[in-house]
Amino acid sequence: MRVEEAYQAFDRDLADYLEGKGLWPSCRAGCFACCFGWVSLSRLEAEALLPHLGEAQRARLLEEGPRRLALLCQGKDDPLFPSRYFQTRTPCPLLEGGLCGVYAQRPLACRGLLTVGDPALCLPEAKAPKGHFLPVPWRMARLRMESLWEEERARYGFLLLGELAGLLYLLLQGLPEGREAVEGRLRALGVLGGRWGYQVV
Ligand code: SF4
Repeated sequence: MRVEEAYQAFDRDLADYLEGKGLWPSCRAGCFACCFGWVSLSRLEAEALLPHLGEAQRARLLEEGPRRLALLCQGKDDPLFPSRYFQTRTPCPLLEGGLCGVYAQRPLACRGLLTVGDPALCLPEAKAPKGHFLPVPWRMARLRMESLWEEERARYGFLLLGELAGLLYLLLQGLPEGREAVEGRLRALGVLGGRWGYQVV
């Protein structure tokens, strides 16, 4: 299944689920606390995003990517790394005027994070209470991710998972061919493995 098809299938399943349960997410345009988060995605999802990026988005990724890779190099083994990062309130480089600049192509990790609760509880300082984010949409997104992971392994022989801005930056620069070469590049950057680093599986 192509990435775009996986997104459409997820959106349909999600709409059916929400309607069936009578759930009305409070997520709205202009509400973007979740875009301060450390978002991970697979190479296939990142590659599907690339052709949709405008010049300004590419320029921001070329600036932000190395910064995030450097942060990850320092913090990839810190158990609290994502929550510490979230507290810095650094917006996703694809966020534009409070709106997702790639909304139709946003990754599954973004699609699956929904709440019916008070949006103020999504903010970093609120430390969202347990159950604030809907668990089923997240699991639905995870299942779609896993089917794309299988497809990526079939295509490249291995799966590459990493943080959104850093991975898009690496793809814009051009990844080397083959698992060993990719691992070598990530190792040289200090971002391979560990608790939060890039995974090559
Ligand atoms: S891709 Fe879009 S929805 Fe996802 S974090 Fe970035 S701006 Fe937010």
